[in-house]
Amino acid sequence: MTQIPFQLSQSYAQALPEAGTVWPPAQIHKPRTLYFNDKLARQLHLPLENADSHTLAQLFSGNAFRDADTCFAQAYTGHQFGQLAPMLGDGRAVILGEWLDDDDRRWDIALKGSGRTPYSRGGDGKAALGPMLREVLISEAMAHLGIATTRSLAVIGTGEVVHRQHPEPGAILTRTAASHIRIGTFEYFMHGQDTASLKRLADYTLERHFPECANKKEPYLAMLDAVIEQQARLVAQWMSVGFIHGVMNTDNIALSGETIDYGPCAFMDAYHPDTVFSSIDRQGRYAYDNQPIIMQWNLARFAETLYPLLDGDHEQRIERLTQAVHTFQPQYEAAYLDRFRRKLGLLQTAHTGDGQLIQDWLWLLEQQSVDFTLAWRRLSDVLRDNEAELLKLFEDPTPVKFWLDRWEQRLLEDKNNDSSLSDSQRAEQMDQSNPIIIPRNHRVEEALSAASEEGDLSLFNALLEALKVPYQDTSQNQRYQQAAPAEFSQRYRTF
Ligand code: AMP
Ligand code: MG
Ligand code: MG
Repeated sequence: MTQIPFQLSQSYAQALPEAGTVWPPAQIHKPRTLYFNDKLARQLHLPLENADSHTLAQLFSGNAFRDADTCFAQAYTGHQFGQLAPMLGDGRAVILGEWLDDDDRRWDIALKGSGRTPYSRGGDGKAALGPMLREVLISEAMAHLGIATTRSLAVIGTGEVVHRQHPEPGAILTRTAASHIRIGTFEYFMHGQDTASLKRLADYTLERHFPECANKKEPYLAMLDAVIEQQARLVAQWMSVGFIHGVMNTDNIALSGETIDYGPCAFMDAYHPDTVFSSIDRQGRYAYDNQPIIMQWNLARFAETLYPLLDGDHEQRIERLTQAVHTFQPQYEAAYLDRFRRKLGLLQTAHTGDGQLIQDWLWLLEQQSVDFTLAWRRLSDVLRDNEAELLKLFEDPTPVKFWLDRWEQRLLEDKNNDSSLSDSQRAEQMDQSNPIIIPRNHRVEEALSAASEEGDLSLFNALLEALKVPYQDTSQNQRYQQAAPAEFSQRYRTF
């Protein structure tokens, strides 16, 4: 039996044993390490420097944890596409335990694809290699873009065949996360009318994620405010890089403020606000442009769960919860403007007309189906006297030139505020808010096909390297900058 070189705790399962079931991962007979994020392991101070590939395979297949008696499959509820699903839970995942790093930060270490659990319903509890590698690519891209996210520590091939649309190689992903508490976890106890457990969950969440709220006069309301602020900022960040989560069900929204559950997510190519990639999202509920309002809807579901914990009569509680949820929109708008002003190079000043300037720019991209990422990135070239690079992206440059005049006028005001910044310095700063490398759908797909169909991880590894420096235009990463052919993007679907 492989020795586990680190000690994990289970504060969550101890505080809330009724929030899941102690459950071991399934035995994997031929585990093979396909990916290990040694940099992340070092960042978390996990003592794995000397672990060879065999040891890693035993650890992160879950084999080494089968007798540990501490692995925990969580129960949760969720609103899926707006409909209440009272009994969800980790149907193919277990939390191995919590790791306290040297800075006293607590991380869940969890497996995905580790076999059936009491929450599997009809599912096989397994995961296919393609989607697990996809989670690595997208979550690591998000992390390097500076967006709060769960991380990917390892992918272990199971040697099994998993049956999806086609037979596919099986795999297990190890995910690290600030926690796995979701809006759906609160809903689980609210819909189960278990106020004692709900209160314990709220207190646990306060202590783990919002200690600054615990001493406030109304700690649960303070936590609600903090969650709303955090999620408003998170969605604004998604919007600023063209990220589409794809399945913003309440069970996929983490109270830690991290982006979680990378299923059918994808980055937008040409700018169309109604872009949807997920094959199951037929109504476009989780389209790019719907993400803020959907997040607010999810936060209203979260607010409802806190109702039994508040003081005051019915009217007062409803009033306070409603008020809190209504702060989402202005907070989101402020966060959005903050992000997008930086993308525009407006670094010192804020004007009421800025929202319109952004909308008019996006309208140009939409009208001419221009690549979102490239258009933003090429804007800084205008400040380097290379307007042609930007205009090349548009079929009809005339309306773009009019818009550029307005933008340059607006920049003048910003420059008047602080003239110490040269145009080339401003351009540099813009480039720090406008990535040149995103996980482009056609690159992700070619990497996953090579891995799943030929067992060739070289494209996956090369893409992952490129995603680690999203803001740098280098001679090596040219291949990952190019937009997909329009036909590809129009019929692209995720699962
Ligand atoms: P998701 O759409 O990934 O958030 O998953 C929704 C629910 O389906 C969660 O409760 C998952 O644990 C469960 N689930 C997804 N895939 C499987 C599977 N292969 N076997 C069992 N449960 C699954
Ligand atoms: Mg989920
Ligand atoms: Mg999922």
